[in-house]
Amino acid sequence: MRGTLYIFSGPAGVGKGTVLQRALKKLPGIGYSVSCTTREPRPGLDVEGETYYFLSEEEFRRRIAAGDFLEYANVHGHLYGTRRDIVEEALSTGRDIVLEIDVQGAAIVKEKMPEAVTVFVKPPSFGELARRLKKRGSEGCEEQELRIKNAKEELSHAGEYDYVIVNDIVEDAVSEFIKIVKKHREEIK
Ligand code: 5GP
Repeated sequence: MRGTLYIFSGPAGVGKGTVLQRALKKLPGIGYSVSCTTREPRPGLDVEGETYYFLSEEEFRRRIAAGDFLEYANVHGHLYGTRRDIVEEALSTGRDIVLEIDVQGAAIVKEKMPEAVTVFVKPPSFGELARRLKKRGSEGCEEQELRIKNAKEELSHAGEYDYVIVNDIVEDAVSEFIKIVKKHREEIK
C-alpha cells in the first residue's frame, strides 16, 4: 500500500519546524522531504542536505525545466521546491512523508494529490507571531517586515486545510499532529 503524504504549512515564526521535528522523533515510519531552495543558508542553523539542498538560481531553473519538482514557489523572494523523486520513493515503498511547504505549494500538491492530508499551524494571535518573528532575529529588518506581511497572507489560507493546529504550547501542538497521523493510519488499515 502507498504511504500517506502530509503537508505542513504555517507562517514564518509560528514554530512549525520545531513542532514537526519533535513530532517526527516520536512517530516511526514517517520521513521528512528536504526541499531545494535558492535562499542563502543561515549560518549555524542550516545544514546542506538536512534542512535544505541549497542551489543556485541557475541550477534551480534547470531542475524546473527537467520536471524534477512536484511543486515549487517563490516565497519571500526566493525559490523553494519539493523534490519529486524523494516523495515518490517514499510513497511507493509504503512510507509516509511530510512536506513543510508554503500555502502556494500546498495548493499545487493538494490539486495533484487530493488524498494528501494538509495541516496548518497557526499562532495563538497575530501579535504573538510578530513578536516571535522579531525575537528570532535571524533575518535583517527588511526581511522581517516582508515575513510579517506574508504571514498575514498565509494566515488567510488556514481554512483551506484539512486540520488547523494552534501552536500555543509546543508539546500540545506536537501531540495534536501525532494524533492526526495516528488517526489516518487507523482509517486506512
Ligand atoms: P525558511 O526559509 O524560513 O526555511 O522557509 C520559508 C518558507 O518556505 C516556509 O513557509 C516554508 O514552509 C516554505 N518552504 C520550504 N520549502 C518549501 C518547498 O519546497 N516548497 C514551497 N512551496 N515552500 C517551501
